[in-house]
Amino acid sequence: MSYQSVNPYDGKTLKSFQELSEQQLESALETASSCFETWRRRTFAERAAILAKAAAIMRARVDEFARPVTLEMGKLIGQARGEVVLSADIIDYYAKNAERFLAPEHLKPSSGEADVESSPFGVLFGVEPWNFPYYQLARFAAPNLMAGNVVMVKHAGCVPQCAIAFEQLWLEAGAPLGAYTNLLISYKQVNRVIDDPRIKGVALTGSVEAGRIVAGRAGQNLKKSTMELGGSDAFIVFEDADLEKTVKWAVWGKMNNTGQCCVAAKRLIVVDELADRFLAKFKAALGALTPGDPMNEATTLGPLSTEAALVKLLDQVERAVARGATLVMGGKRVDRPGAFMEPTILTDIKPDNPAYREEFFGPVALFFRVKSEDEAVALANDSEFGLGGSVFTQDVARGKRVASRIDTGMVFVNHPTWTTPELPFGGIKNSGYGRELSSMGIQEFVNKKLVRVASIDAPA
Ligand code: NAP
Repeated sequence: MSYQSVNPYDGKTLKSFQELSEQQLESALETASSCFETWRRRTFAERAAILAKAAAIMRARVDEFARPVTLEMGKLIGQARGEVVLSADIIDYYAKNAERFLAPEHLKPSSGEADVESSPFGVLFGVEPWNFPYYQLARFAAPNLMAGNVVMVKHAGCVPQCAIAFEQLWLEAGAPLGAYTNLLISYKQVNRVIDDPRIKGVALTGSVEAGRIVAGRAGQNLKKSTMELGGSDAFIVFEDADLEKTVKWAVWGKMNNTGQCCVAAKRLIVVDELADRFLAKFKAALGALTPGDPMNEATTLGPLSTEAALVKLLDQVERAVARGATLVMGGKRVDRPGAFMEPTILTDIKPDNPAYREEFFGPVALFFRVKSEDEAVALANDSEFGLGGSVFTQDVARGKRVASRIDTGMVFVNHPTWTTPELPFGGIKNSGYGRELSSMGIQEFVNKKLVRVASIDAPA
């Protein structure tokens, strides 16, 4: 069965769910489609009231929402609570700002009038990953619901309880049936949904492999899509960086969500001058993390999301070492039940090592030494990914200069790549296309319609 809640802390199956039958799927599509016809006509204020209620429910019941995240995919409970609040912030942000973002734009043609109106596409379909089980849903659903679209979501197979809780949230907040629909469906049914003429746009957050398949299918149907895919963010440290604080951020950037972030600091690129001291401190900090029950506030190292994710990562590390990388620490599963991986650092990763180009989705850091700013930039850009990145230096002008030279969708100076509702999120190259969040995220699935008024006597 594809939808199973399994606790990665102890391997116990918590709950299993049946996939929808063809008839149930058809009925869900029909409900969403007819819901759109009324939802699109509601005012911004009416839609905003429902979003504000949804955000308020999440804030009032943070623990209740956080629990299934920790149980199903092993996120440390404190971080799970943080994700619930961040999701509520995103929902509130669009409730407050959507009308302004989508206000008609008055153009100034040489004669007559012209306006660009924004109108919703219709029913949208999202395919979402497990690593931030609510945040990913909120950043797709909130802007699109405010724009007047309705959304259907296929969430990852390992977080069905979170998927269902998020669907229930919208009903409880007063959204009509069909405004937000969770679909427990197979890959075959994903294709059927993308092909369905009632679906007008497709968004996926996930791996490059899934992106190719889903974007390809959307493309065959000439449907607009957005793709938020993998990354291998560079975390560049220059000689003038504040070492203590930078190491602290490197640990956070690498280990937040047990390293399972698309924008995790996956490649640490440190100038020679600081490299040994940085590595020693970074290693000591990772070594101090203690594995344990992610429900326990004192635990600092949680399990990976699934046993399969752990097996894949262990294999990647093994192959990297076989091809010449040096293991500075870790590299094995933790000797205890559950999907725990030792914090791991690899160095001496040469361009002919497959690890040089792969995404490591977990507590594995790739460490590189460089001689200069130019070498750091060249290494950062020598990647098929282009999601985020960061630069640490006390010279902010230098940080900005280097940021401008990095070919990714986001670069942070003196902070690991991170997300807040008002900042655009997304990448280039194999990290995908389109943007979520901010004023940009709400523009992806709206029709920018020109309405032109000309004098009937105007020349042709
Ligand atoms: P994944 O395997 O691609 O899964 C993502 C979603 O796609 C899941 O719902 C999955 O369903 C579905 N899916 C996978 N293959 C499919 C197929 N052939 N047809 C239809 N649906 C398919 O990715 P993941 O391992 O869960 O997530 C990790 C990846 O996501 C990493 O590469 C990470 O960097 C990326 N990510 C990117 C962002 C961003 O904003 N750029 C954010 C978070 C994560 P099942 O679970 O049922 O297989």
